[in-house]
Amino acid sequence: EVYKNASKHIAVMAFPFGTHAAPLLNLIRWLSDACPDAVFSFLSTQQSNGSTFPMKLEKVKPFNVRDGLPEGYVFRGNPHEPVEYFLQAVPGNFTEVLDEVVAEIGKQVDCLITDAFYSFGADIADELNVPWMAFWTAGPRALFVHVETDLIRQHVGNNGPQDKALDFLSDFSGIRVADLPAGITSGDFNDAIPALLHKTRLALPRAAAIAANSYEDLDNTIFNMLKLRFKMYLNVGPFNLVSTVSSVTVDDSHSCLDWLSKCEHASVVYISFGSVITPPPHELQALCEALEESEFPFLWSYRGSPEKQLPPGFLERTSSKGKIVPWAPQQKILEHPSVGAFVSHGGWNSILESIVGGVPMILRPFFGDQGLNTRTVETVWGFGLGLEGGTLTKEGVMKALKTTLCSEQGKKMKEKIGVQKELAYNAVKPNGSSVENFKTLVEVLSNKPTL
Ligand code: UDP
Repeated sequence: EVYKNASKHIAVMAFPFGTHAAPLLNLIRWLSDACPDAVFSFLSTQQSNGSTFPMKLEKVKPFNVRDGLPEGYVFRGNPHEPVEYFLQAVPGNFTEVLDEVVAEIGKQVDCLITDAFYSFGADIADELNVPWMAFWTAGPRALFVHVETDLIRQHVGNNGPQDKALDFLSDFSGIRVADLPAGITSGDFNDAIPALLHKTRLALPRAAAIAANSYEDLDNTIFNMLKLRFKMYLNVGPFNLVSTVSSVTVDDSHSCLDWLSKCEHASVVYISFGSVITPPPHELQALCEALEESEFPFLWSYRGSPEKQLPPGFLERTSSKGKIVPWAPQQKILEHPSVGAFVSHGGWNSILESIVGGVPMILRPFFGDQGLNTRTVETVWGFGLGLEGGTLTKEGVMKALKTTLCSEQGKKMKEKIGVQKELAYNAVKPNGSSVENFKTLVEVLSNKPTL
């Protein structure tokens, strides 16, 4: 019934890896609330749709596209492999289902929203003669370094000195070449993701609008520079503070929140390396030793099998101080007053959630934008720490934990992230910058002139 009465069909194409599809769906849920006459088709792989859709949504219908995996494919632990197969199947796996999508929704596509990774969104939208809106799921600063790849290469060359500061860009003096994502000045430019992002940066100026899950006050210089480079660049986050989005019931089947409520104020170390990464064995060993020796209580969301992968006896010896779970309600945990530090890989969603919770971070980046995020948190925003040598060592983690949880510097980090927390809340208040930007986005999607 909803679909019959709709006057607009907005088709959405998600990137089904890491934490990309979930924030895109959050944006779509917010949009579906704000555009009563619109219905949405949400295209992703079966696996991604299965884990992203929290429930049946009234006006957002999931459609599955091929994942491109060869028949009988067995995942052997390399997270990049399924991504590479998938990218060999795009854009055909999306375009081949469009007729079916239109038939099921009962309306031609009026607008296309894609993950900004999909430069082909520009071509599909042109062919359909509809506007293209791209959603950038990582931080604005990561988008900026991709956009400025040519300029960065001019200054530092290909494979230039890793410790050179990017001080020729405003507000980048604390960032070094080594912190950049692969494919900008180093790494194999033909690898799947660098090649994809290269096409993205060429296509994004064609987007009617680019939206990102951030807010203007977080990285204001970068925001202003991005605005100059695109037809329309809009920070509309953080989504987890938007009521339609945050209203999903929290799954706390491992009773993390109960456990936290028995701990002292700002005493607990929360550990999670996102949805994809498990650190290598020697780093896990080092982290365990640091936790055991420093004796801070900890809550660890662990991808894998802790009994087999963590040091013998660690679980028993730390059972009174620590809790390890396969998945945790992270946002709620970071908002819990008992949490005092967040050991993370520096994924963008995790950083935003830490800001909203007001919890300083200790970051061990692995790939993509995580290195850039880490250095930005450490040297530009000052509310978290990287680790000496960039990896988890026993001494490094112990030092970072002590600094964060029991020092003047730790207090300052907490104050700084508290200030950002307030700015994040202000951005999503009525008339806040993200809410105003969101209204502009709705206008663009409705094809209404904005001026
Ligand atoms: N997350 C969660 N529970 C966990 C671990 C992670 O809810 O136990 C969520 C977390 O709240 C965040 C996302 O997974 O929203 C991780 O996103 P991020 O961008 O930090 O990392 P990625 O998964 O893309 O590596």
